[in-house]
Amino acid sequence: MEETLFPLLSLVRLRMGIDGRGVTTLVAGAGCPLSCRWCINKRLLREAPVEHLTAAELLERVRIDDLYFRASGGGVTFGGGESLLHAAFIRSFRQICPEEWRICAETSLAVPEKQLRIAAEAVDGFIVDCKDMDPEIYHRYTGGDGELMHSNLRLLLEVVGPERVTVRVPLIPGYNTADDQVRSAELLRGFGVEKLDLFEYVVRE
Ligand code: SF4
Repeated sequence: MEETLFPLLSLVRLRMGIDGRGVTTLVAGAGCPLSCRWCINKRLLREAPVEHLTAAELLERVRIDDLYFRASGGGVTFGGGESLLHAAFIRSFRQICPEEWRICAETSLAVPEKQLRIAAEAVDGFIVDCKDMDPEIYHRYTGGDGELMHSNLRLLLEVVGPERVTVRVPLIPGYNTADDQVRSAELLRGFGVEKLDLFEYVVRE
C-alpha cells in the first residue's frame, strides 16, 4: 500500500505552554475545509506545501528535541490548516515515534467522522477550536456546518473521554459577543467538556 505523506507548511520547535503540555514542536499541514474570516494562516494555506514527508522523515526532523520532550512531558502537536485531514499520517507517525512523546492535534473538527475515529487511535490530546456553538454564528464566521462540529465533538468525547479534550472558545471580533462566548461555554459543559479555554482572537488585517 502506498505510504501516506504529510504536506508540510511549517515546523516550529521549542514551544512552551502554547499548544499542549511541556515542550512541543508544532507541525503544520496544508489544507482546511473552512474559511474563517480572521484565519492567521490564510496566506500560508493558499501556498503550496513546502514539501511532502513520510512519517520516518518527519521523525528524523523532530527527534532532535527528544530529550526536551521526555523531560517536560511534551511532544509533537499537529496543526494547520486542519490537522485531522491527515489523521492516517498522524497514526503512522504515532506508531514509529517514542511512546513517551505526547501527540496533540489542533482541530476545528470540520472533518468526516472517519477521520476522527482514526485520530482517536493516535492522539493523546485534542485541542478543539469550536469558534462558536451557535450554528448561525459558526456558519457566518467559517462558512462551515456547526452541526457537524457538534456531532463530532459529542463523538470525540464519547470515544476518547473528556480528559483528552480541551475546547477553546474564542471571542471573535465582529462575529460574536461576550454573552455568546459564555453561552457556548455553558453548552459545552452540557456536552461533558471539562477543559475549557476562553480567549479573544487578536485581529490583524
Ligand atoms: S479552521 Fe483554522 S486554519 Fe482553517 S480557516 Fe479556520 S482559522 Fe484558518
